[in-house]
Order: sequence, then C-alpha cells, then structure tokens
Amino acid sequence: MIDRDEILEVLSGYDTDDLSIATLGSHTALHILKGAKEEGFRAVAVCEEGRTTPYERLDVADEIIVVESFEDMVSDDVQERLRELNALVVPHGSFVAYVGLDRIENEFAVPILGNRFLLRWESERSKERELLERAGLKVPKVFDSPDDIDRPVMVKFPGARGGRGYFICSSPEEFEEKARKMIEAGHITEDDLETAHIEEYVVGTNFCVQYFRSLMEDTVEVLGMDRRYETNIDGLVRMPARDQLEAGLEPSYVISGNIPVVVRESLLVQLFEMGDRLVEASEEIHEPGFIGPFCLQTICTEDLEFYVFEISGRIDGGTNVMFLPYAYLKFGEVVTMGRRIAMELRVAVDRGEVDKLVT
Ligand code: ADP
Repeated sequence: MIDRDEILEVLSGYDTDDLSIATLGSHTALHILKGAKEEGFRAVAVCEEGRTTPYERLDVADEIIVVESFEDMVSDDVQERLRELNALVVPHGSFVAYVGLDRIENEFAVPILGNRFLLRWESERSKERELLERAGLKVPKVFDSPDDIDRPVMVKFPGARGGRGYFICSSPEEFEEKARKMIEAGHITEDDLETAHIEEYVVGTNFCVQYFRSLMEDTVEVLGMDRRYETNIDGLVRMPARDQLEAGLEPSYVISGNIPVVVRESLLVQLFEMGDRLVEASEEIHEPGFIGPFCLQTICTEDLEFYVFEISGRIDGGTNVMFLPYAYLKFGEVVTMGRRIAMELRVAVDRGEVDKLVT
C-alpha cells in the first residue's frame, strides 16, 4: 500500500508553480481538463488508443498521453511522465474501474487529488453501507435471502455489467421466475445468483446530489444535481402499459446519460445536513475524509425523505450536466465540478498547502 508520506515525498519534488492536472480520458475528463485550464494549470489526459477524439476535437487538453490500454496508466513510463509534468491526478469512476483498486493502492506513486484510501469504501458494497450507516443516513433495507422478500425489491448484480440484468420483484416466487428468465436471456448466470444483492425498491424521485468538500474553505457545498438516464428502462416506460405487457421485454438499468434536475428548495436543508454527516463519517474512516467532490445517489419518497442507494467518493458522472445551479449561486459564474477542483487547488497553491489535497 502506497502511504501518504510516499506521495508527499513525490510532491516535494514538484514545482508547485508549474502543476498539471491529469486524468484518465473517460468519464468526466472533459470538464476536469477544461476546469484545469481555466484556472491556469496544464491539462493532461491519459487516453486509450482510439479514444482521443473528444479530447482533441474539443481542445480541452494541453497534452494527451496515449496508452494501449487504460491500465497502462500505472506503467513506469506513464507514471514517470506524469511526475515530470508535476501532475496531480483526479480520480473518477473509470479510473477506478479500468485501473483497478489494487493497482491504485499499491502501484500508483503519483499524487492523487482526492482521498485514495476512501476509493475502496465507495466501491465495495459492504464498506459503502458501513460508511452510510456510520453517517446515520437512511438506506434501503437489504434482504439476505430471496426467501425473505416481502415487498418490492430491486435485484442487483456486481461487476462491470453495470445495471444489466437488474430486475424488480415482490415475492420469493417472482424472484425465482424472473431470475430464471434473466438466465435464459443470457443477462446473468447461475453463479451470479449467489452474489445477487437484494434491496428494497424505494419508490420516489431520483436525485444524485453533487457535493464538494472544501478543505481550503472548511465547508461542504451542494453544487448541483442530476438524475440518471438509463437504457433500456427509460425507453421501456415510454410504451403504454398494455404494449409493455405484450412486448415481454426484460429491463436493464445501464447508464447512458444524465439529466439535470433541481430539488424543491425546502429540501436543500436536509441535503446539506446529509453531506455534512457523510463527510464526518469519512473523516473517521480515513483522515482527512473526502477531499473535493463526492455524490449521494438518492431516492426522495412521498414523505420527502431521502434514501441513499449509492455514493461516489470522488467526482461522479452526473457532474457532466456541467451547469451546476448551486455553484452559480455561490460563485456568480459557471463553475463546473472540474473547475471547482482546480479552484480549490489554486487556493492551496497560493497558501502553500497543496499537501493537504493529495494522497
Ligand atoms: P448506478 O448505476 O449509479 O451504480 P445502481 O446500479 O445502484 O446505480 O442502480 C441503477 C438505477 O436503479 C438507479 O439509477 C436508480 O434509479 C435505481 N435504483 C437503484 N437502487 C434503487 C432502490 N433501492 N430503489 C429504487 N430504485 C433504485
């Protein structure tokens, strides 16, 4: 495990007047890079061969490092180049998924702008739940066995297939029936059933709340929110009920986009408090807790209570809606999450406190 001292040692060799912000070319890289440039940092993208087009055509990067495969981000050459560029790396969902937690924790000796030690806590379901429970946030009830299903539940499967093969059912019998259909359709395997995560289906509206924990300002900001646009469920629900029944299609919840949304103003009080509580819990787990962006994925019920079904302990994909309305209120201009990260770093550079933001 790479510890913080090792990273601070690397940082001590950096020229902090000539820093780069680097990230993997995927997920939220566009506005991370753009934000870096806007705040006067060099913007560096590490792109997989064949996936450079958006970064080139939209002209957001000062330098593009092309690798054969994303996991080569941890190769000696790329790490060396990143350190030469005085690069701080913004971790995001694709960085975690493609590079992998083990490599990030054990092999990636480049300063991460964020808390690398919390990435496992947001990625592994049992750890994520422990963090949420420590924060005292409401979470959907989890069922240990399909035999216990006594209400609508969502059945989820782990791994990279993300949302494929998920289904909803309300009884043990319906679980068996739908699981069988999913296996026949080739969406899941018999083995997957063992690892199925069965969770109460919370009926309400989806808000994925985009937070920023600022160590420089000592605050937790709500900057914006989105809801998910998922295929094929969002297409399926556009069919009249009669035709849905006739069609006999299996739903999937594969993310394909994000839709900006705002919350009823009176509910913001709750959302700020929830963010504060999660930050406190994250501090207990690994000092200094979340650094910069994080996200709570919630469902708001008819009693106007928020249930958290997932968190991102780093920048979340929903920030791609770019315009974050509460960031506009706070700063009086368009501040994307990428730019917010760079603004924080700018303050840290000016105060000589970059070490506080990296792990
Ligand atoms: P993500 O794709 O962000 O990892 P999940 O895979 O956990 O999210 O869930 C996919 C979708 O299913 C979410 O966008 C959400 O709308 C819905 N969902 C997840 N968990 C629940 C739940 N417990 N109750 C109701 N809807 C849920």
